[in-house]
Amino acid sequence: MKRARILLGLSFAALMFALSPPSARGDGEPPLSELTVTPARPTQAADIYSRSIGRPWHGYLVGGLRLGTSSSIRLLPAHREADRFWGTAELVTLLEHAANRVAAEAPGARLTLGELGKRGGGNIPGHRSHESGRDADVGFYLVDATGLSFDEQSFLHVARSGRVRHLEAEVRFDDERNWLFVQSMLEDPTAYLKYIFISRSLKQRLLREAERQGVTQELRLRAERILQPPLGSHDAHDGHFHVRIYCPADDVPGCTERGPYYDWLPDDTPFLPEQIRLARGLAPRG
Ligand SMILES: [Zn+2]
Repeated sequence: MKRARILLGLSFAALMFALSPPSARGDGEPPLSELTVTPARPTQAADIYSRSIGRPWHGYLVGGLRLGTSSSIRLLPAHREADRFWGTAELVTLLEHAANRVAAEAPGARLTLGELGKRGGGNIPGHRSHESGRDADVGFYLVDATGLSFDEQSFLHVARSGRVRHLEAEVRFDDERNWLFVQSMLEDPTAYLKYIFISRSLKQRLLREAERQGVTQELRLRAERILQPPLGSHDAHDGHFHVRIYCPADDVPGCTERGPYYDWLPDDTPFLPEQIRLARGLAPRG
């Protein structure tokens, strides 16, 4: 079941890559033809039976995948050395799909990876979570005054106006690309998306963009719930998205989950607690 889903995901990713036009970038990085990493594919397919164990803030990762550079993904220079790009197959595939979809529609746009987790998961200094392969920090899609992709060297903070702070050049949060990235994850059946932590003002920008594009109300309601300003965090998340997925279906019960349990989660979601199943009129588990 999981293998079928992942393989389906991979062929989708490959298709998106094949469809994506060649990109032109003026950022000083090597042109695509010189990139040696195979694009749009998890780099260690043999490890596809990944397991998220425990909780995001107290757990570890077995058989994770490492997300790497591709035509649609770049690594944040500040984090390149530390090799914290590991996650469950579901998280890695979800991010790849979304990055490929944005790159297919916006030539030259690449997702900037900050930190996911360590190869075996566990504690990372400076993060409360990121322990069990279900969390990822990724940069915003930014553009310069001419509309070209802007590749940041470290996460940059974005003001309510959408403009990047403390930078002489005019660089902006790209509403369209950032919304497409979010929309792709909302629509992707590869993983159960739980949260995207982001500052309140940027959340509002994304919801306005969704409305401008006329996406369905259902999708906007999901975005409204999933895009969350983090509670009690010093980090206002105005410099990156923090993506968290629920426990992958076949990692339960070793993977530990707690609410909220959104009403759009399918009835057969294995981590739904008994009281939620009862409220939905489902038979108790045997
Ligand atoms: Zn984070």
